[in-house]
Amino acid sequence: MARILIYDEDTNKIYTETLTENDPMPYSYDSTLRVKEFRGSSGSPTLWTTTRAMEAWNLTRRRYGKGIYVGYAFKRIWEGGHGNTSQHYAGVSFDVGQNLTSSGRQALWTVANNLGCWGYVEPISLTPTWVHFDRRYGTPACGGTSGYPTLRKGSKSTYVLILQDSLNALGYSTKTLDGAFGNNTYTALVNYQKANGLTADGICGCSTWKRIAGMVIGIGRTPTVID
Ligand SMILES: [Zn+2]
Repeated sequence: MARILIYDEDTNKIYTETLTENDPMPYSYDSTLRVKEFRGSSGSPTLWTTTRAMEAWNLTRRRYGKGIYVGYAFKRIWEGGHGNTSQHYAGVSFDVGQNLTSSGRQALWTVANNLGCWGYVEPISLTPTWVHFDRRYGTPACGGTSGYPTLRKGSKSTYVLILQDSLNALGYSTKTLDGAFGNNTYTALVNYQKANGLTADGICGCSTWKRIAGMVIGIGRTPTVID
């Protein structure tokens, strides 16, 4: 069983479903993406994604017209192998096509890239044995085109889930894992910032994100090393 939180950017709401590993992911059509495929090697009891990521999956799957093998999708930060601002941790990324030949991967990459529904399709030269696409969103706190957005009281997103999950793992309880940045998350973040020599403003910006992601990545890290 998995508790799955789905953030809808259009309504700014988070929906929760409890599903079995063989159930289709919420908003995915038919059985094109099951919970266990989205989970991959992650041992997290709670998973999260967005409606737009699922819509992008559906479009890609329809255009491609056949099954897409998913090697890696969701991970928690310490479940390894990815950079500490990876969109996999936000539940909006997919590493797929590991079972294909290089020409097969090229075809899949072209479908995903030409659809224009993903925020980012990694150049195939960087992914020799897989295809990476993600539906990243928000404005990165540290600038550039990747990384997590600045979060503050009132924020709601899968990035808040990364923050809550990480603070809890580091011993600063947010009481809930709900994707909504409220008073308990604020208090946990301020306490974390105070203990780590950061400006204790309760805002998770570039420097706080860097510190948190750097600290949490060593927790129970798994040997899965693929980006
Ligand atoms: Zn990837």
